[in-house]
Amino acid sequence: MTESKVFMKQTCNKCDGKAVFYRKYSGERLCKQCFSNSIIQKTARAISKYKMIKRCDNVAVAVSGGKDSLALLYVLNKISEKFEFNIEAITIDEGIKGYREESLQIACNFCKQLHIKHHVYSYKKIFKLTLDDALDLRTAKISSCSICGILRRRAMDIAAKEIGYNIIATGHNLDDLIQTFMINMISGDTKKISTMYPGSTNKIKPFSEIYESEIVFFAYINKIPFQSEPCSHMYEGIRTQIREFVNMLEQKHSGVKNNLLSSILKLTNTKNSYRNEKKSCMRCGNICTNNICSVCNMISNIKKS
Ligand code: SF4
Ligand SMILES: [Zn+2]
Ligand SMILES: [Zn+2]
Repeated sequence: MTESKVFMKQTCNKCDGKAVFYRKYSGERLCKQCFSNSIIQKTARAISKYKMIKRCDNVAVAVSGGKDSLALLYVLNKISEKFEFNIEAITIDEGIKGYREESLQIACNFCKQLHIKHHVYSYKKIFKLTLDDALDLRTAKISSCSICGILRRRAMDIAAKEIGYNIIATGHNLDDLIQTFMINMISGDTKKISTMYPGSTNKIKPFSEIYESEIVFFAYINKIPFQSEPCSHMYEGIRTQIREFVNMLEQKHSGVKNNLLSSILKLTNTKNSYRNEKKSCMRCGNICTNNICSVCNMISNIKKS
């Protein structure tokens, strides 16, 4: 009896294959194939649910060379035929000495392997300075990742526009979304929270409902190569502590991350949301919540200094 229970536990809940993954929050045990399918289905469901992509859309996938972005490219490539959209990949080279070279190579090779057109843009080319330069020039108390993130968003906008693509897909997963939400809560930035609803802009996050740990496993079983060496600035901000805190909560109370997502969706999908107060940046014309968008603001501050 005990043995059969053990045997049952080791068998995939969807087929007779050998279970290799236990999804604690749902109690599912899945074999490699069913686990992979579940990630692809979850992604496709999120795309439909949040109306992220329409038929014939041109989707530029931001590919950094890390696990999330390459897994996203792999999944979107698989579902693009059924959903009838086009994809091309864009890598932004921030200009971080000793870090970007390897991931750039991994991204190039993987795009070649999937026969996806790959474009490389750099901060140096677009903003006339590398991230390393910008960090040297910063005077305000702003984290490296905040500067980098703001510049990357603008660089992606410029790159996607140049290649004629209207949607930008990034590999942010459920953990990233929760961390960003908590960072915005801690800094009192409710305007940013209001724009976090996954389908609210042309910047889409198809992995919004998928745990980071599941993306890692998906990349591993599908033999997706990725750079595992983190950027040297990664542990500077508060994000690392929030990641550890939420992971600790999830470990003790599985499903906490899904509950947090559901709260984020309820808070950001309301008629009172700031995202209905759309304005255009007076300098670049992009949609923002103030007169000057955060990108223009930061770039002009860096350039002044
Ligand atoms: S860890 Fe921070 S600084 Fe490094 S690439 Fe990512 S966002 Fe940029
Ligand atoms: Zn199975
Ligand atoms: Zn602007």
